[in-house]
Amino acid sequence: MIRVCEIFESIQGEGLTLGAPSIFIRTGKCSVGCKFCDTKYSWDSGRDYTLNEISKIVQESRIPEVVITGGEPLEEEDLPELLKELSSFSQVRRITLETCGHMFRELPKEKLHLVVSPKPPTMGVKFPLSELQMFLKFYTDLELKFTLFSEEDFSVIKDFLNKSKKVPEPIVLQPLNVPTENYSETCKRVISLIFSNRDFINRYRIRIIPQVHKFIGVK
Ligand code: SF4
Repeated sequence: MIRVCEIFESIQGEGLTLGAPSIFIRTGKCSVGCKFCDTKYSWDSGRDYTLNEISKIVQESRIPEVVITGGEPLEEEDLPELLKELSSFSQVRRITLETCGHMFRELPKEKLHLVVSPKPPTMGVKFPLSELQMFLKFYTDLELKFTLFSEEDFSVIKDFLNKSKKVPEPIVLQPLNVPTENYSETCKRVISLIFSNRDFINRYRIRIIPQVHKFIGVK
């Protein structure tokens, strides 16, 4: 069983797979408690779906890109079984799994594109330093997507990267959408913050990618 908050079709609005027409499975549990979470409705909602129910919806959609998001999908006990099942369908080209990285789990890797997106100090939760190192060691197809709003957030990210021997590139930097500032203003501010650090831009291959679906006004 997987607790599902909602299943919907949309374009991928963020990260390195931006623009891919996708079917999204949003799980319905999260215990992290980020201050500016934009999906608080997914913390404890929806109902339990059998793997068969989810598989049927995915197969009937005929969409090759599956995105499992949350909520926090890693809190779903039966997640490995779901990944095995979905990856066995010839229709499915890739399964993007989005996590904040607060807990490490070893999952089946077939067709898996794991996106680890740790939450910065602005979100008021612990930055998962040791867990991130475990993800980096275990997964091969891994995307690091850092959200950031303030100089403090940027410092924590730079510090983490400095301490890491090897990181998968390009590294995604995503301006964080918070209700206290217009998102377009946040994006401009965060872009100039990053540009003010030439050593950083020089050292890593980075992509500054805002949440495009927020601008379009879709999920
Ligand atoms: S981890 Fe994601 S879903 Fe959970 S509280 Fe944070 S932003 Fe919201």
